[in-house]
Amino acid sequence: MKKKIAIIGSGFSSLSAASYLAKENFEVHVFEKNSTLGGRARQLKKNGFTFDMGPSWYWMPDVFESFYNDFGKTTSDLYELERLDPGYQVVFGKNESIPIGDSLEKIYAVFEKEETGSRKKLERFMSSAKENYDIAIKDLVHRPGISPLELVTPVTIRKINYFLSNIKKDVQKEFKSPKLRQILQFPVLFLGAKPSNTPSFYNFMNWADFGLGTWHPKNGMYSIVEGMVSIAESLGVKFHTDAIVEKIQVDDQGKAQGIEVNGEFISADVVLSGADYHHTETLLDQNYRAYSEAYWDKKVFAPSSLLFYVGLDKKVEQVFHHNLFFDVDFDLHAQAIYDTPKWPEDPLFYANFPSVSDPSMAPDGKEACFLLIPIAPGIEDTPELRSRYFDLVMARLEKLTGQELTKHIEFTESFCVNDFVEDYNSYKGNAYGLANTLLQTAFMRPKLISKKVTGLFFTGQLTVPGPGVPPALISGKLVAELIAK
Ligand SMILES: Cc1cc2nc3c(=O)[nH]c(=O)nc-3n(C[C@H](O)[C@H](O)[C@H](O)COP(=O)(O)OP(=O)(O)OC[C@H]3O[C@@H](n4cnc5c(N)ncnc54)[C@H](O)[C@@H]3O)c2cc1C
Repeated sequence: MKKKIAIIGSGFSSLSAASYLAKENFEVHVFEKNSTLGGRARQLKKNGFTFDMGPSWYWMPDVFESFYNDFGKTTSDLYELERLDPGYQVVFGKNESIPIGDSLEKIYAVFEKEETGSRKKLERFMSSAKENYDIAIKDLVHRPGISPLELVTPVTIRKINYFLSNIKKDVQKEFKSPKLRQILQFPVLFLGAKPSNTPSFYNFMNWADFGLGTWHPKNGMYSIVEGMVSIAESLGVKFHTDAIVEKIQVDDQGKAQGIEVNGEFISADVVLSGADYHHTETLLDQNYRAYSEAYWDKKVFAPSSLLFYVGLDKKVEQVFHHNLFFDVDFDLHAQAIYDTPKWPEDPLFYANFPSVSDPSMAPDGKEACFLLIPIAPGIEDTPELRSRYFDLVMARLEKLTGQELTKHIEFTESFCVNDFVEDYNSYKGNAYGLANTLLQTAFMRPKLISKKVTGLFFTGQLTVPGPGVPPALISGKLVAELIAK
């Protein structure tokens, strides 16, 4: 008899774990509360427009490739992948933007033009970033975060200074131009914390950015979900959508017995949750929860987001696939997210126009536009606030790109804190989990194995290695290895 595994949620970490476990000959069932698979990487299709509702940056193609290789596949078996050029642009004002090209040579040239002498400094910075990438992605992130000793290797001992300083300090020490400083601090925002609170070691994200590039899977990020689901199904994984897990049943000996789904008990030898960790623990009786409310409240969470999906009836000028609008004070916005949580007065924002490089994302002659403003988790979310910020961001977009857009809106949909809570059971409506600060790295993150319930495991962006799609793939693999053991 095969052992049966019930997986809660169908985000990337769950999809990854499901395939590894099925490959190990377990009977795997995935229960997803929503009607579609893929967790936060849902897709919105409307009037011929296609939007990725969550992740839109495809970074670290090597991590995806290695996942597919584990199942005898390669990326191109699943979707067409294109490296974007430029990968993105950072807009600092009207007619004032810096494109990040698709080669180090192009990026070095752009830096040198902005600040004389910065080419050499960037070359040095990238060499350290690459070295750290190799240490992190080829080794450290594959450790399950069980013991502090996992981080102690001859290489990390040599690198101890990289854990004692932070990204902001390092960048400011080397580069004078405020623009270049912002560009180099941008990648760590994916880790969920301020650059001043992110250890220097994470400069490996700069290698992911400049060295490995920004890619786009044809038809959008949802192609990854479809690819991963097809692999899982080919291995026998059974998916159950509209399946709300309401309880994790534990027997008197503290062993997980199964789950209650839409009022029905489903037995399982092992329960694995890829849903938000805090929410999963609320599915347990109080005495089986490993972390208190006070614990969660003290943690640094990645931001929530105010998101807009806008269908425009014309093509947009002056924009690329990915555009960062950093024309306002970065530090003030960061304070409003992390220090004194409130709506930012002058938000920086990100605008994604996938149809610029992928015509399948919008009807001919039209543009799909996705806007994201990072905000503090848990803050007030009302229709009035959403509408105020929409007007504000559209006005900035029109001004900075020098064209009328509001008149060309076919429709707008929004998504914010309340939706993150309602749709994903996300703690305080966080968008992408628990930040990677020094004290929330590796063994200091919530554990993959429940400390209180035998046969209960966790995966996903609140555990190791952390937020983002590539880490979710790795998290699923790590937990599958622990379960198989
Ligand atoms: C707006 C946004 C932009 C992002 N941008 C990027 C990006 O550009 N690049 C990148 O790499 N990463 C990005 N991320 C982060 C990335 O999307 C996430 O880190 C990753 O998708 C998380 O996967 P996961 O498996 O941890 O969990 P999730 O995707 O959160 O999946 C958990 C699933 O569990 C389900 N669930 C919850 N409770 C229950 C229950 N009781 N019963 C059944 N099911 C339940 C939820 O519905 C959900 O489907 C972004 C995230 C967001 C939200």
